[in-house]
Amino acid sequence: MGMSFFSKKIGIDLGTANTLVFVPGRGVVLNEPSVVAISLEDNRILAVGNEAKSMIGRTPEAIVAYRPMKDGVIADYKVAEAMLRYYMRKALGSWSFIKPEVLLSVPAGVTSTERRAVIEAAIKAGAKSAYVVKEPILAAIGAGIPIYEAKGHMIADIGGGTTDVAVISLGGIVSSISVKCAGNRIDENITDYIKKTFNLAIGDKTAEDIKINIGSALPIDEELSMTIKGRDLISGLPRSVEVKTNEIVKAISKELREVVKAIKDVLQETPPELASDIIDHGIIMTGGTSSLRNLPELIFRRVGVKAMLAENPLYCVAKGTGVALEHLGAYKKMVISKR
Ligand code: ADP
Ligand code: MG
Repeated sequence: MGMSFFSKKIGIDLGTANTLVFVPGRGVVLNEPSVVAISLEDNRILAVGNEAKSMIGRTPEAIVAYRPMKDGVIADYKVAEAMLRYYMRKALGSWSFIKPEVLLSVPAGVTSTERRAVIEAAIKAGAKSAYVVKEPILAAIGAGIPIYEAKGHMIADIGGGTTDVAVISLGGIVSSISVKCAGNRIDENITDYIKKTFNLAIGDKTAEDIKINIGSALPIDEELSMTIKGRDLISGLPRSVEVKTNEIVKAISKELREVVKAIKDVLQETPPELASDIIDHGIIMTGGTSSLRNLPELIFRRVGVKAMLAENPLYCVAKGTGVALEHLGAYKKMVISKR
């Protein structure tokens, strides 16, 4: 393995739920939860990513599993920096002594202070230079949309913490909206439903499993079912129940209405010429939650515009960081900050 195998450029999709690291020439090298486990006693960082997530709900009192990203921006600077350092080192492997050029995603509605915080954190974590690009732009690049065209394209990035809807034309964001209705809230809806209906407490992981395995945005004829385990709220003892698709559809429908509303709101403030382009091209869906069963169909029915899943929806933003890094010159126009 020659040294050229290890790129000194790193793209990071700094998500609320997951952090993905992309290295040009190698692709997505890392995909782990944006979680850090901290010892309360001495404020020490015990683990990052997968290892930290596995501690959630299983940790003794003295350890907290902490998510340094909230709504796509840094909520805890020190912890975010530590997380970035860990991911950068892990991505570079034995070449971690080389300071990389790092390109990170930031939400479309980020303030200049929040943007600077991301850049500073990356530099402190060991980057030689750091660039940030707005997430919908990266999602569009990663989805293979020709963003420089004088044509309107709509991206709906439906992730864990937020749903971000944006119209892009000529390499810029024409209009965008970010709402906090996405995967996490859908999981909460499921947890609440199970609690109310069966008097059963379930963990976050179980709620997510239900959503992914049997959940759907629209009722289906041949329902899927799943046996789940939880703790009976009255006896306090473990118990299992069977849940079916269509009850989950009902439980999460309110949340999905908000996602649909975000798309409608952006369309309503889109100039007619661009709106007509979007009708032609369809809405491109990225982010983990866009893979929810029948979600494109729900959007089509409620909005009247066809919606399509991008290839590898979970990887679009990360892939976009890689493409932007490889063509920094060409993408300079959108690269909003550097240090
Ligand atoms: P973020 O960018 O906010 O970190 P991601 O785009 O990584 O979020 O998406 C994470 C969300 O996607 C989680 O809520 C996860 O449960 C959800 N998710 C992943 N795969 C699926 C699937 N097949 N069906 C429904 N939801 C999914
Ligand atoms: Mg994301």
